Amino acid sequence: MAELTHFYHSFQPTHYDIYLDIDRGTKKISGKTTITGEAKNEAIAIHQKDLTVSAVQADGEDVPFTTDTKADAIRITLAKAGQVTLAITYTAPLTDTMMGIYPSYYELNGEKKQLIGTQFETNAARQAFPCVDEPEAKATFSLAIKFDEKPGETIIANMPEKKVEDGVHYFDTTVRMSTYLIAFAFGEMQSKMTKTKSGVEIGVFATKAHKANELDFALDIAKKAIEFYEDFYQTPYPLPHSYQLALPDFSAGAMENWGLVTYREALLLLDPDNTSLETKQLVATVITHELAHQWFGDLVTMKWWDDLWLNESFANMMEYVSVDAIKPEYHIWETFQTSEVPAALQRDATDGVQAVHVEVEDPAEIDSLFDGAIVYAKGARMLVMVRALIGDDALRAGLKKYFAAHQYGNATGADLWAALGDASGMDIGAIMHSWLEQPGYPVVTAAVKDGQLTLSQKQFFVGEGKDIGRQWQIPLNSNYDAAPAIMKDKEISLGDYKQLRQANGKPFRINVGNSSHFIVKYDQTLLQDILDHVDSLDAIAQLQILQDLRVLAEGRQISFATVVPLLSSFDNSHSAVVNTALFYLLSDLKNFVFPDTPEKKSLQVYFDQLSAGQLARLGWSPKSGESNDDQLTRPFVLSNALYAENKDAIAQAHELFTANKDNLAGLPADVRVFIIRNEVQHFGTPALFDQLLAAYRETNDASYKSNIRAALTQTPDTQLIAKLIEKFKDADTIKPQDLRAWFGGVLRNEHGEQAAWDWIRTNWQWLSDRVGGDMEFTTYIQVSAGAFRTPKRLAEFKEFFEPKLNTPGLTREIKMDTKVIESRVQLIADEKDAVNAAVAKATK
Ligand SMILES: [Zn+2]
Repeated sequence: MAELTHFYHSFQPTHYDIYLDIDRGTKKISGKTTITGEAKNEAIAIHQKDLTVSAVQADGEDVPFTTDTKADAIRITLAKAGQVTLAITYTAPLTDTMMGIYPSYYELNGEKKQLIGTQFETNAARQAFPCVDEPEAKATFSLAIKFDEKPGETIIANMPEKKVEDGVHYFDTTVRMSTYLIAFAFGEMQSKMTKTKSGVEIGVFATKAHKANELDFALDIAKKAIEFYEDFYQTPYPLPHSYQLALPDFSAGAMENWGLVTYREALLLLDPDNTSLETKQLVATVITHELAHQWFGDLVTMKWWDDLWLNESFANMMEYVSVDAIKPEYHIWETFQTSEVPAALQRDATDGVQAVHVEVEDPAEIDSLFDGAIVYAKGARMLVMVRALIGDDALRAGLKKYFAAHQYGNATGADLWAALGDASGMDIGAIMHSWLEQPGYPVVTAAVKDGQLTLSQKQFFVGEGKDIGRQWQIPLNSNYDAAPAIMKDKEISLGDYKQLRQANGKPFRINVGNSSHFIVKYDQTLLQDILDHVDSLDAIAQLQILQDLRVLAEGRQISFATVVPLLSSFDNSHSAVVNTALFYLLSDLKNFVFPDTPEKKSLQVYFDQLSAGQLARLGWSPKSGESNDDQLTRPFVLSNALYAENKDAIAQAHELFTANKDNLAGLPADVRVFIIRNEVQHFGTPALFDQLLAAYRETNDASYKSNIRAALTQTPDTQLIAKLIEKFKDADTIKPQDLRAWFGGVLRNEHGEQAAWDWIRTNWQWLSDRVGGDMEFTTYIQVSAGAFRTPKRLAEFKEFFEPKLNTPGLTREIKMDTKVIESRVQLIADEKDAVNAAVAKATK
């Protein structure tokens, strides 16, 4: 394979004048880019992809050039090295790939419309204009854009518009920034504006297909977030405005373009009068994540993509720090415990997983770095660990210094550790090295051996894993002072257990607060002591017990059969985090039963037993003034009761459906999905199916849309499933951005699994052409693996994906997902009988 070199080494741009003429009718872009910079050699390379270059001039003179498709390059030979101004004239297609400059499609009053937007991360700026498309190649940019403009249309970009002349919109020159953060959008838009205390203009933009009040929540969060970060980072927001734009077609969740952040509609807009608390929390964290990037990522940028974690791990931690400050009533750190933590523990336990910091060169591999569970969730947990170690004062002082030293430039992980180390007086780099550079995490075994309380660490695996003796520097956070702050060794002894127990007066625990990235295996004595005092533990500690038991059981360190009898200690908890952890554990038990078997009946009885009390307490209808915990717990209880096929629950849902059948969108958003899904599963007809599919196409309420999807994909009618699958390629019904969720839904439906699996195997090439170029593509493999649990499916998965092992960007995912299915199949084979016996016993 060709050696990949950074173009920045041959040419260092300082300023771009970008002129674009975009025609939606002909789907053509013509452009001229003028780049001033310094050539380090006579032979230089500038990035391009799918551009047709007609001329290259250097300081006004035509110069020879070639386009190198394989390297995404225009290769130019200059008369001499040194300061030069290049002018490149080209044309490019406007494509429907959700990358580069692309159209989003939507309908307004039955009329089809387009909104043009951009998505350049990681390397699609080169599809829009020639540039040195590397994060280190920071420069200033002056944008001038012309388009087939109609009355009532507007255009926005990173910076404010300066003037319009002859139909060309000129924007203020940007500050020094990376190419992947350039953005603009035009079409018919509505907007809402406000200003921060410091005078930054905050805006939210969307198509006119949405109600105006859907923009309100985002406007409020965005304003408060910018104000929070200006204070927390002690560094002013560097641009005149911060715009948030919802795009109808968007591949990722959101993108932190500097000054013009783009979002999926579902992650920015919401109906303030009928949206679940869970969705509000999600939207708030997405906005605060992107706005954290305006400093961390945009103002100071990773030098190269290997330090992607610097951007993402940090933003993922800060989204919680800031929502906790802006909306303390959300208790958002509890959501961190129930979403990010299990995601990281799950994926990071599979051998072959990437480390948070990964060496990378190939553009196709760069996109595969965006592993949500590792670079985002694990990385965030790593930084939460740092924050717990050094405290907020040192964190803020360190960050202030870090921004001051590297603003408008680039940095590496070492630079951050140095700044935080200086501020805290601790060698943060040394502690974090083991977490950043090594994949996986340890299980710490706490045991009483010969009367001594001992701790030992060992890498934890779910499935087959090769132990190569990795060790971590583990912040222990014990409730006994005898335990050191950091455990560096493989094994340590804390002293005589009886004496320690007596002196401390409470059960021994480590990882209190669950802020370090490891799990604990207590021996029988220690675990029993904790369980005997379980009522005195806070919710996070209870969650942790359930979570660690589940993960340990998946890793075969204990048996699920031994966990089952413990669950009834938690089924009356009023805490949402405990109920979430219980729900995850119960969901794992579903793997051990198959349709139409006595074992499944028995598990349903067990689910009924565990949910009955809570169902009676919470009921189907949200009560005004009820606690967040109750609001967040109800969906789990309803889900369990419906899995149990509890007759009353089914009847009540049916009643609610019937009473509201003319205004389903008006059902309370927290429970709506269960009501509609129950109807499709138990009372479904082709007419209902058509009615819901039509409502899906019509509504602009993203939450309602996702409820309908979750319901329709669970139909037991195989003819309707076939009809649904026919819609997979119909972008007017199912947008490409939403296809994975539809596919995954049908795949997880026992009546639809075969059809969905057949579909993806038949249409892999189509799918690859459609979404293969972006960072979400590998998740189709993950979703498939997540649904499979039989030897037959394992064999089929291998047969289909093994020949694709050498596809850039797919290798790791295929290897890991094969292991995931293998370990699940083995677990079921080995433990099915014991687990089902334990369930039968518990249902007496
Ligand atoms: Zn991010």
